[in-house]
Amino acid sequence: MAQSPAALLTDRFARTISYLRLSVIDRCDLRCTYCMPERQSFLPKAEVLTLEELYSLSRGFMARGVRKIRLTGGEPLVRRDMVDLVRALGRHIGTDLDELTLTTNGTHLAAHAEALAAAGVRRINVSLDTLDPARFARITRRDALGSVLEGIAAAQAVGIAVKINTVALKDENGDELPDIISWAHAQGHEITLIEVMPLGSVDGDRYDQFLPLFAVGTQLEQRWTLTPETHRSGGPAHYVRVAQTGGRLGFITPLTNNFCAGCNRVRVTATGQLFACLGGREQVDLRAALRGANPEAALNAALNEAMRIKPEKHHFAISSPGAEPALARHMSMTGG
Ligand code: SAM
Ligand code: SF4
Repeated sequence: MAQSPAALLTDRFARTISYLRLSVIDRCDLRCTYCMPERQSFLPKAEVLTLEELYSLSRGFMARGVRKIRLTGGEPLVRRDMVDLVRALGRHIGTDLDELTLTTNGTHLAAHAEALAAAGVRRINVSLDTLDPARFARITRRDALGSVLEGIAAAQAVGIAVKINTVALKDENGDELPDIISWAHAQGHEITLIEVMPLGSVDGDRYDQFLPLFAVGTQLEQRWTLTPETHRSGGPAHYVRVAQTGGRLGFITPLTNNFCAGCNRVRVTATGQLFACLGGREQVDLRAALRGANPEAALNAALNEAMRIKPEKHHFAISSPGAEPALARHMSMTGG
Protein backbone atom coordinates (compact mmCIF):
# COMPACT_ATOMS: atom_id res chain seq x y z
CA MET A 1 0.00 0.00 0.00
CA ALA A 2 1.54 3.36 -1.04
CA GLN A 3 2.22 5.90 1.71
CA SER A 4 1.72 9.62 1.41
CA PRO A 5 3.26 11.50 4.32
CA ALA A 6 -0.07 13.30 4.86
CA ALA A 7 -1.69 9.95 5.63
CA LEU A 8 0.55 9.23 8.62
CA LEU A 9 -1.01 9.15 12.06
CA THR A 10 0.50 12.12 13.88
CA ASP A 11 -0.96 13.53 17.10
CA ARG A 12 -1.06 17.07 18.50
CA PHE A 13 2.30 16.57 20.20
CA ALA A 14 4.03 15.63 16.92
CA ARG A 15 4.26 11.96 17.87
CA THR A 16 3.82 9.61 14.92
CA ILE A 17 1.92 6.42 15.63
CA SER A 18 3.52 3.46 13.92
CA TYR A 19 2.62 0.70 16.38
CA LEU A 20 -0.75 -0.95 16.96
CA ARG A 21 -1.52 -3.20 19.90
CA LEU A 22 -4.59 -5.13 18.92
CA SER A 23 -6.52 -7.22 21.40
CA VAL A 24 -8.19 -10.14 19.64
CA ILE A 25 -10.17 -11.46 22.62
CA ASP A 26 -10.99 -10.38 26.18
CA ARG A 27 -11.13 -13.95 27.52
CA CYS A 28 -8.27 -15.70 29.22
CA ASP A 29 -7.54 -19.16 30.59
CA LEU A 30 -5.62 -17.71 33.57
CA ARG A 31 -6.82 -15.30 36.25
CA CYS A 32 -3.70 -13.39 37.30
CA THR A 33 -4.48 -11.72 40.60
CA TYR A 34 -3.08 -8.33 39.49
CA CYS A 35 -4.97 -8.44 36.17
CA MET A 36 -8.52 -9.55 36.94
CA PRO A 37 -10.73 -10.94 39.68
CA GLU A 38 -11.45 -14.68 39.83
CA ARG A 39 -15.04 -14.09 38.73
CA GLN A 40 -14.39 -11.92 35.72
CA SER A 41 -17.30 -11.44 33.31
CA PHE A 42 -16.45 -11.66 29.61
CA LEU A 43 -18.08 -10.17 26.52
CA PRO A 44 -20.68 -11.98 24.40
CA LYS A 45 -19.05 -13.22 21.19
CA ALA A 46 -21.13 -10.93 18.94
CA GLU A 47 -19.47 -7.91 20.54
CA VAL A 48 -15.99 -9.07 19.57
CA LEU A 49 -14.61 -8.19 16.13
CA THR A 50 -14.66 -11.01 13.58
CA LEU A 51 -11.50 -12.27 11.95
CA GLU A 52 -12.38 -10.28 8.79
CA GLU A 53 -12.94 -7.12 10.83
CA LEU A 54 -9.64 -7.54 12.67
CA TYR A 55 -7.90 -7.95 9.34
CA SER A 56 -9.61 -4.93 7.68
CA LEU A 57 -8.89 -2.81 10.70
CA SER A 58 -5.22 -3.81 10.64
CA ARG A 59 -5.04 -2.99 6.93
CA GLY A 60 -6.60 0.41 7.66
CA PHE A 61 -3.83 1.08 10.19
CA MET A 62 -1.15 -0.08 7.75
CA ALA A 63 -2.53 2.33 5.16
CA ARG A 64 -1.89 5.10 7.72
CA GLY A 65 1.71 4.13 8.34
CA VAL A 66 1.50 1.56 11.14
CA ARG A 67 4.49 -0.79 10.64
CA LYS A 68 4.30 -2.94 13.73
CA ILE A 69 1.37 -4.91 15.10
CA ARG A 70 1.29 -6.76 18.40
CA LEU A 71 -1.64 -9.13 18.89
CA THR A 72 -2.69 -9.46 22.49
CA GLY A 73 -5.71 -10.08 24.70
CA GLY A 74 -6.98 -11.49 27.11
CA GLU A 75 -5.08 -14.49 25.92
CA PRO A 76 -4.71 -14.29 22.13
CA LEU A 77 -3.98 -18.00 21.70
CA VAL A 78 -7.33 -19.05 23.18
CA ARG A 79 -9.06 -17.46 20.18
CA ARG A 80 -9.75 -20.33 17.74
CA ASP A 81 -9.03 -18.46 14.48
CA MET A 82 -6.00 -16.66 15.87
CA VAL A 83 -3.47 -18.48 13.72
CA ASP A 84 -5.55 -17.65 10.60
CA LEU A 85 -5.30 -13.97 11.51
CA VAL A 86 -1.55 -14.27 12.05
CA ARG A 87 -1.19 -15.95 8.65
CA ALA A 88 -3.26 -13.26 6.92
CA LEU A 89 -1.32 -10.41 8.53
CA GLY A 90 1.99 -12.24 8.16
CA ARG A 91 1.70 -11.90 4.37
CA HIS A 92 2.34 -8.16 4.75
CA ILE A 93 5.64 -8.57 6.62
CA GLY A 94 8.45 -7.11 4.55
CA THR A 95 6.12 -4.80 2.59
CA ASP A 96 3.61 -2.87 4.71
CA LEU A 97 4.69 -4.35 8.04
CA ASP A 98 8.11 -4.48 9.68
CA GLU A 99 6.98 -6.75 12.46
CA LEU A 100 4.08 -8.90 13.60
CA THR A 101 4.33 -10.15 17.13
CA LEU A 102 2.23 -11.22 20.08
CA THR A 103 2.02 -11.18 23.84
CA THR A 104 0.88 -14.44 25.37
CA ASN A 105 0.74 -16.18 28.71
CA GLY A 106 2.31 -19.17 26.95
CA THR A 107 -0.17 -21.86 28.02
CA HIS A 108 -1.10 -22.70 24.39
CA LEU A 109 2.18 -21.73 22.79
CA ALA A 110 3.57 -25.24 22.35
CA ALA A 111 0.66 -26.15 20.06
CA HIS A 112 1.02 -23.03 17.90
CA ALA A 113 4.72 -22.15 17.87
CA GLU A 114 5.45 -23.80 14.55
CA ALA A 115 2.48 -22.18 12.76
CA LEU A 116 3.39 -18.78 14.19
CA ALA A 117 6.97 -19.08 13.00
CA ALA A 118 5.80 -20.21 9.54
CA ALA A 119 3.52 -17.13 9.37
CA GLY A 120 6.49 -14.82 9.96
CA VAL A 121 6.47 -14.23 13.72
CA ARG A 122 10.09 -13.74 14.79
CA ARG A 123 9.68 -12.44 18.34
CA ILE A 124 7.13 -13.05 21.04
CA ASN A 125 6.55 -11.79 24.58
CA VAL A 126 5.66 -14.39 27.17
CA SER A 127 4.42 -13.33 30.59
CA LEU A 128 5.92 -15.27 33.45
CA ASP A 129 5.97 -14.02 37.03
CA THR A 130 7.50 -16.97 38.85
CA LEU A 131 9.29 -20.28 38.28
CA ASP A 132 7.76 -21.89 41.33
CA PRO A 133 4.71 -24.05 40.53
CA ALA A 134 2.88 -23.28 43.78
CA ARG A 135 3.47 -19.55 43.42
CA PHE A 136 2.43 -19.70 39.78
CA ALA A 137 -0.83 -21.33 40.83
CA ARG A 138 -1.34 -18.61 43.47
CA ILE A 139 -0.56 -15.70 41.14
CA THR A 140 -2.51 -16.98 38.11
CA ARG A 141 -5.08 -19.03 40.08
CA ARG A 142 -4.36 -21.91 37.68
CA ASP A 143 -1.83 -24.76 37.76
CA ALA A 144 -0.15 -24.23 34.39
CA LEU A 145 3.55 -23.46 34.86
CA GLY A 146 4.55 -26.66 33.04
CA SER A 147 2.60 -25.73 29.86
CA VAL A 148 4.09 -22.23 29.87
CA LEU A 149 7.65 -23.56 30.13
CA GLU A 150 6.90 -26.06 27.35
CA GLY A 151 5.52 -23.24 25.21
CA ILE A 152 8.61 -21.11 25.72
CA ALA A 153 10.87 -24.03 24.78
CA ALA A 154 8.76 -24.80 21.69
CA ALA A 155 8.94 -21.19 20.49
CA GLN A 156 12.69 -21.12 20.98
CA ALA A 157 13.05 -24.44 19.14
CA VAL A 158 11.39 -23.00 16.01
CA GLY A 159 13.56 -19.89 16.08
CA ILE A 160 11.18 -17.39 17.69
CA ALA A 161 13.03 -15.05 20.06
CA VAL A 162 11.26 -15.02 23.42
CA LYS A 163 11.14 -12.01 25.69
CA ILE A 164 9.92 -12.70 29.21
CA ASN A 165 7.66 -10.11 30.84
CA THR A 166 7.54 -10.24 34.62
CA VAL A 167 5.26 -8.07 36.73
CA ALA A 168 7.03 -7.18 39.99
CA LEU A 169 4.72 -8.06 42.89
CA LYS A 170 5.74 -6.99 46.37
CA ASP A 171 4.73 -10.07 48.36
CA GLU A 172 4.52 -12.66 45.58
CA ASN A 173 7.78 -12.53 43.62
CA GLY A 174 9.89 -9.62 44.90
CA ASP A 175 12.35 -12.08 46.46
CA GLU A 176 12.48 -14.26 43.34
CA LEU A 177 13.26 -11.63 40.71
CA PRO A 178 17.05 -12.27 40.63
CA ASP A 179 16.39 -16.00 40.09
CA ILE A 180 13.90 -15.34 37.29
CA ILE A 181 16.35 -12.94 35.62
CA SER A 182 19.22 -15.46 35.93
CA TRP A 183 17.02 -18.23 34.50
CA ALA A 184 15.85 -16.10 31.56
CA HIS A 185 19.37 -15.02 30.67
CA ALA A 186 20.71 -18.57 30.98
CA GLN A 187 18.02 -19.68 28.49
CA GLY A 188 18.99 -16.87 26.12
CA HIS A 189 15.86 -14.74 26.72
CA GLU A 190 15.64 -11.03 27.30
CA ILE A 191 13.53 -10.13 30.30
CA THR A 192 11.59 -7.02 31.24
CA LEU A 193 10.22 -6.19 34.67
CA ILE A 194 6.94 -4.27 34.82
CA GLU A 195 5.39 -2.22 37.61
CA VAL A 196 1.83 -3.19 38.42
CA MET A 197 -0.65 -0.61 37.08
CA PRO A 198 -3.97 0.39 38.65
CA LEU A 199 -6.20 -0.85 35.82
CA GLY A 200 -9.53 -2.37 36.81
CA SER A 201 -10.57 -3.68 40.18
CA VAL A 202 -9.05 -6.93 41.41
CA ASP A 203 -9.80 -9.03 44.47
CA GLY A 204 -6.83 -7.71 46.49
CA ASP A 205 -5.49 -4.19 47.10
CA ARG A 206 -3.13 -2.84 44.45
CA TYR A 207 -1.16 -1.04 47.12
CA ASP A 208 -0.18 -4.41 48.59
CA GLN A 209 0.93 -5.66 45.14
CA PHE A 210 2.92 -2.61 44.04
CA LEU A 211 6.71 -2.89 44.11
CA PRO A 212 8.49 0.20 42.71
CA LEU A 213 11.19 -0.86 40.28
CA PHE A 214 13.73 1.69 41.46
CA ALA A 215 13.88 -0.33 44.71
CA VAL A 216 14.37 -3.54 42.70
CA GLY A 217 17.11 -1.89 40.62
CA THR A 218 18.93 -0.78 43.78
CA GLN A 219 18.79 -4.32 45.19
CA LEU A 220 20.01 -5.86 41.93
CA GLU A 221 22.95 -3.43 41.88
CA GLN A 222 24.15 -4.88 45.18
CA ARG A 223 24.42 -8.29 43.54
CA TRP A 224 25.30 -7.49 39.91
CA THR A 225 26.95 -4.87 37.72
CA LEU A 226 24.21 -3.19 35.69
CA THR A 227 25.34 -1.08 32.74
CA PRO A 228 22.71 1.19 31.13
CA GLU A 229 22.16 0.50 27.44
CA THR A 230 21.11 2.94 24.77
CA HIS A 231 18.99 0.24 23.08
CA ARG A 232 15.30 1.19 22.82
CA SER A 233 12.66 -1.26 21.66
CA GLY A 234 10.42 1.55 20.41
CA GLY A 235 8.56 1.06 23.67
CA PRO A 236 8.56 2.45 27.18
CA ALA A 237 11.25 0.16 28.61
CA HIS A 238 14.75 1.27 29.52
CA TYR A 239 17.48 -1.36 29.51
CA VAL A 240 20.60 -2.43 31.33
CA ARG A 241 23.12 -5.16 30.57
CA VAL A 242 23.83 -7.51 33.48
CA ALA A 243 27.58 -8.17 33.44
CA GLN A 244 27.39 -11.44 35.39
CA THR A 245 24.70 -13.07 33.21
CA GLY A 246 25.52 -11.31 29.94
CA GLY A 247 21.79 -10.73 29.34
CA ARG A 248 19.64 -7.66 28.79
CA LEU A 249 17.18 -6.55 31.43
CA GLY A 250 14.38 -4.03 30.81
CA PHE A 251 12.37 -1.95 33.25
CA ILE A 252 8.90 -0.59 32.51
CA THR A 253 8.10 1.99 35.15
CA PRO A 254 4.80 3.69 34.34
CA LEU A 255 4.33 4.80 37.92
CA THR A 256 7.77 5.91 38.95
CA ASN A 257 9.10 7.27 35.67
CA ASN A 258 6.78 8.67 33.01
CA PHE A 259 7.62 7.49 29.49
CA CYS A 260 4.93 9.21 27.43
CA ALA A 261 7.02 11.71 25.44
CA GLY A 262 8.20 8.98 23.06
CA CYS A 263 4.83 7.22 22.72
CA ASN A 264 4.37 5.71 19.24
CA ARG A 265 1.33 3.50 19.81
CA VAL A 266 -2.39 3.12 20.23
CA ARG A 267 -4.40 0.21 21.54
CA VAL A 268 -7.55 -1.33 20.16
CA THR A 269 -9.75 -3.66 22.21
CA ALA A 270 -11.38 -6.84 20.90
CA THR A 271 -14.59 -4.84 20.42
CA GLY A 272 -12.84 -2.28 18.24
CA GLN A 273 -12.55 0.52 20.80
CA LEU A 274 -9.39 2.48 20.17
CA PHE A 275 -7.78 3.76 23.36
CA ALA A 276 -5.46 6.62 22.55
CA CYS A 277 -3.56 6.03 25.83
CA LEU A 278 -3.28 2.94 28.05
CA GLY A 279 -3.73 5.18 31.07
CA GLY A 280 -6.51 7.44 29.72
CA ARG A 281 -10.21 7.41 28.92
CA GLU A 282 -9.90 8.96 25.43
CA GLN A 283 -11.50 6.51 23.02
CA VAL A 284 -12.89 6.16 19.52
CA ASP A 285 -15.29 3.47 18.27
CA LEU A 286 -13.68 1.75 15.28
CA ARG A 287 -16.23 -1.08 15.23
CA ALA A 288 -19.01 1.40 14.40
CA ALA A 289 -16.80 2.72 11.61
CA LEU A 290 -16.13 -0.80 10.29
CA ARG A 291 -19.79 -1.82 10.44
CA GLY A 292 -21.08 1.42 8.86
CA ALA A 293 -21.92 2.26 5.24
CA ASN A 294 -18.48 3.45 4.11
CA PRO A 295 -15.98 1.61 6.31
CA GLU A 296 -12.76 2.94 4.74
CA ALA A 297 -13.72 6.62 4.98
CA ALA A 298 -15.25 6.13 8.43
CA LEU A 299 -12.16 4.33 9.72
CA ASN A 300 -9.88 7.09 8.45
CA ALA A 301 -12.07 9.75 10.06
CA ALA A 302 -12.04 7.79 13.34
CA LEU A 303 -8.24 7.50 13.23
CA ASN A 304 -7.94 11.26 12.65
CA GLU A 305 -10.16 11.81 15.68
CA ALA A 306 -7.95 9.48 17.73
CA MET A 307 -4.92 11.61 16.86
CA ARG A 308 -6.82 14.75 17.90
CA ILE A 309 -7.68 13.36 21.34
CA LYS A 310 -4.50 11.43 22.20
CA PRO A 311 -3.41 12.88 25.56
CA GLU A 312 0.08 14.12 26.26
CA LYS A 313 0.58 11.65 29.11
CA HIS A 314 -1.09 9.22 31.45
CA HIS A 315 -2.03 10.02 35.04
CA PHE A 316 -1.56 6.70 36.82
CA ALA A 317 -0.84 6.63 40.52
CA ILE A 318 -1.04 4.07 43.31
CA SER A 319 -1.02 6.55 46.11
CA SER A 320 -2.56 4.95 49.16
CA PRO A 321 -3.95 1.71 50.54
CA GLY A 322 -7.55 1.02 49.46
CA ALA A 323 -7.50 3.58 46.60
CA GLU A 324 -9.90 3.00 43.70
CA PRO A 325 -8.33 1.86 40.39
CA ALA A 326 -7.18 4.75 38.17
CA LEU A 327 -9.35 3.29 35.40
CA ALA A 328 -12.25 0.84 35.56
CA ARG A 329 -11.11 -1.24 32.59
CA HIS A 330 -8.74 -4.16 33.07
CA MET A 331 -5.44 -4.62 31.27
CA SER A 332 -7.02 -7.73 29.71
CA MET A 333 -9.26 -5.38 27.67
CA THR A 334 -6.51 -3.27 26.17
CA GLY A 335 -3.78 -5.90 26.21
CA GLY A 336 -0.20 -5.51 27.35
N1 SAM B 1 -2.60 -12.86 28.39
C1 SAM B 1 -1.45 -12.35 27.77
C2 SAM B 1 -0.31 -12.27 28.75
O1 SAM B 1 -0.55 -12.39 29.95
O2 SAM B 1 0.82 -12.07 28.28
C3 SAM B 1 -1.64 -11.01 27.09
C4 SAM B 1 -2.47 -9.99 27.79
S1 SAM B 1 -1.86 -9.43 29.34
C5 SAM B 1 -3.07 -8.24 29.78
C6 SAM B 1 -0.45 -8.48 28.83
C7 SAM B 1 0.54 -8.11 29.89
O3 SAM B 1 -0.08 -7.24 30.81
C8 SAM B 1 1.09 -9.27 30.69
O4 SAM B 1 2.50 -9.21 30.65
C9 SAM B 1 0.59 -9.03 32.08
O5 SAM B 1 1.50 -9.48 33.04
C10 SAM B 1 0.44 -7.53 32.09
N2 SAM B 1 -0.54 -7.00 33.06
C11 SAM B 1 -1.82 -7.39 33.27
N3 SAM B 1 -2.41 -6.62 34.21
C12 SAM B 1 -1.47 -5.74 34.61
C13 SAM B 1 -1.46 -4.67 35.55
N4 SAM B 1 -2.54 -4.35 36.26
N5 SAM B 1 -0.31 -3.96 35.69
C14 SAM B 1 0.80 -4.26 34.95
N6 SAM B 1 0.85 -5.24 34.05
C15 SAM B 1 -0.27 -5.98 33.88
FE1 SF4 C 1 -4.78 -13.55 31.44
FE2 SF4 C 1 -2.66 -12.15 30.70
FE3 SF4 C 1 -4.44 -11.12 32.43
FE4 SF4 C 1 -2.92 -13.11 33.22
S1 SF4 C 1 -2.20 -11.08 32.60
S2 SF4 C 1 -5.17 -12.96 33.52
S3 SF4 C 1 -2.68 -14.27 31.41
S4 SF4 C 1 -4.81 -11.59 30.33
